Amino acid sequence: MSPTPNVSLSNYTTMRLGGIADYLAEIHSNQELVEALHWARKRNLPVLMIGGGSNIYWQDDGFRGLVLVNKILGYKDHIETDGSHTLTIGAGELWDSVVARSVAAGLTGIEALSLIPGTAGGTPIQNVGAYGQRISRVLVSLEAFDTQTDTFVTIPESNCAFSYRESRFKSTDRGRFFITTITLRLHSGNPAPPYYAAVDDYLEKHGITTPLTPAVLREIVIAIRNSKLPDPATAANNGSFFANPVVSADKAKRLEAEFPGIPCWPGDNGMYKIPAAWLIEQVGLKGFHDAETGMATWDKHALVLVNEHAKSTADLLHFKQKIVSAVEEKYHITLVQEPELLP
Ligand code: NAP
Repeated sequence: MSPTPNVSLSNYTTMRLGGIADYLAEIHSNQELVEALHWARKRNLPVLMIGGGSNIYWQDDGFRGLVLVNKILGYKDHIETDGSHTLTIGAGELWDSVVARSVAAGLTGIEALSLIPGTAGGTPIQNVGAYGQRISRVLVSLEAFDTQTDTFVTIPESNCAFSYRESRFKSTDRGRFFITTITLRLHSGNPAPPYYAAVDDYLEKHGITTPLTPAVLREIVIAIRNSKLPDPATAANNGSFFANPVVSADKAKRLEAEFPGIPCWPGDNGMYKIPAAWLIEQVGLKGFHDAETGMATWDKHALVLVNEHAKSTADLLHFKQKIVSAVEEKYHITLVQEPELLP
C-alpha cells in the first residue's frame, strides 16, 4: 500500500470535475485499509473513502488528505436451511455485476436495481432504490471500519437508520465508517406484483403476459434505463442529480389544487413523493444546454445533469442553482441534490 501523490480527482467521479488529492490509494483488503489509516494518521492527514465515483463529485480545491478507493472484492452465496440465500459481498464489487450474478442464480430482491452504477459498498449509504426495490429491504448487515473506535464492526440493518434514500452513513455518521462488506438475504422465486408503472407499460407494450422472473425484470429495467439515461462512459454525469422531494399529505393536496396533474406518489409514513424530473421539465429545463456553464440536463431525463464542457465544479454548482431557483420560484419546493459534494 503506497499512496500516489497529486492525483486528479476528476478521474474519480463520473461527473469528471474536481481538483487534486494530495494522496490516493486503492484498497484491496481489510489489512490494506488498516495500513492506509496508520499511514495517514502518522502524517496527520484526513482520510476519505470512495467506491465507483458515480454518486460523488469533488470541490475544485481538491482534498488535502488521502483518498481511498474501495476495491475489496468477494461474492459468497450461502444457502440457509429455509432455502434463502445469504450473499456476502465485498464493498468494492461492481454493483451491477452483483445483481447479474444473483439473477443468474434465480434469486429475487435486487433485480430491479439493475444497471445502477457504482459499487456494492455504496448502496447502503443512500439506501439505493429503484422500481419498487431498495437495498434496506434485503440488507442483513454490513461490516465497516469504525474510525471512532478503531475497530471493524458489524452493523445490522436495524441500526443503519434507513429511510427514503437516507441512512446514518450520509447523515449523523457521515465519514465515520468505511464499509468493507455487505450481507444480503435473497430468495429464489419471482418478484411479486404490483410493479412500477414503467414496468407495467413495458409488459403491455411488448405483450409479455407470463409471470415475471428476476431475469426478465432485470432485462426490462435495463431496457428502460438504457432508453432514457446516458451512459456515464460517454456523457459525464452522476445519474439523478436531485432526490425526489417528499412532502406531507397536506402539502400534496395543496399542490394538486394549485397545479392539476402534478404527479404525487404515495411514499413512506403517509408522505408523498413528487418526481423531481417532472418539476424540472415543467420549468422548461429538460434538455437544456447551458452555454454559460457548459452543463446540460439530459434530453430524455431532466433529472440527469450532464457535464458537456464545464471547466470546473463551480460551473456545475452555478447550473444546479439555476435549476433549484426555477423550481423554487414556481412550486415553492427546494430540490435537494443526491450526489455528495466532497470533501
Ligand atoms: P420514474 O419511473 O419516472 O418515477 C419517478 C418517481 O415516481 C419516483 O419517485 C418513483 O418513486 C415514483 N414512482 C413511479 N412509479 C411508482 C409506483 N408505482 N409507486 C410508487 N412510486 C412510483 O423514475 P426515474 O427518475 O426514471 O427513476 C426510475 C427508478 O430509479 C425510480 O424508482 C427512481 O426512484 C430510481 N432511482 C433511484 C436512485 C437512487 O437510489 N439513488 C437514483 C435514480 C433513480 P421511487 O423513487 O420511490 O422509486
